[in-house]
Amino acid sequence: MKKTTKRTIRTDGSGRKRASKTLGFHILTIFPGMFSSYLGESLFARAKESGIITVALHDLRDFTEDRHNKVDDRPFGGGPGMVLKIQPIWAAFRAVMRGITKKRTRKPRVRTILFSARGEAFDAHTARRLAKYDHLVLVCGRYEGVDERVAEHIADEEISIGNYVLSGGEIPALVLMEAVSRHVPGFIGKEESLEEVNGSFPTYTRPESFAPDPKKRSRWKVPPVLLSGNHKKISEWRESHRGRTL
Ligand code: SAH
Repeated sequence: MKKTTKRTIRTDGSGRKRASKTLGFHILTIFPGMFSSYLGESLFARAKESGIITVALHDLRDFTEDRHNKVDDRPFGGGPGMVLKIQPIWAAFRAVMRGITKKRTRKPRVRTILFSARGEAFDAHTARRLAKYDHLVLVCGRYEGVDERVAEHIADEEISIGNYVLSGGEIPALVLMEAVSRHVPGFIGKEESLEEVNGSFPTYTRPESFAPDPKKRSRWKVPPVLLSGNHKKISEWRESHRGRTL
């Protein structure tokens, strides 16, 4: 029988939701500084504080074995650019895995992801699937890419966040972390956002009539049905303006 992980939600003294299970992100990167500002604000800051998620940044330079802390080298066979070396990635991965498996009674569910422009396209389905793991190890490429042996021997899957080439896996890691975290109970106030349940519809807030240029008479107005107070009509309007369900 398939084992399921129990994920009960309890409330702490402050009334904030607390998850009994934590999702741990372990990021392997040569630019750990890129993450702190984004992850230090808003929902991520709150989720870290309440223990819903943990984030561990691992600087690949700390795992090099040569005097110059070299994380990259020239590609075999020639060609432009540099390639991230296997050795620091393997050393960092092993250190992460040692930390994860230490003093655990239950075997944690770990998934290792390599960001790659050639990977499987990331979507809502993948985000939901990955939220079920206990730990996600995220390997961020740079330069011309990563020694292919990372994909062959270390990563469980390769993920692309879209059909374009970025300069590194750091933004893809943040995109994945945000989309996945939203499916961890307690990360957002409600279990799922309206978009995730029903597909999104347009929303407006005050003022009802906005003057973009005070010297002119033209106004940007809210559709009158939304101001009507007629809930049946409002639902019908939203239904007819709804986007696709994810
Ligand atoms: N030469 C490589 C691109 C290297 S870009 C190729 O053709 O695939 C450097 C790094 O940025 C990659 O190793 C990957 O980790 C990351 N990256 C670039 N574009 C990405 C995308 N669309 N999705 C996920 N990661 C991407």
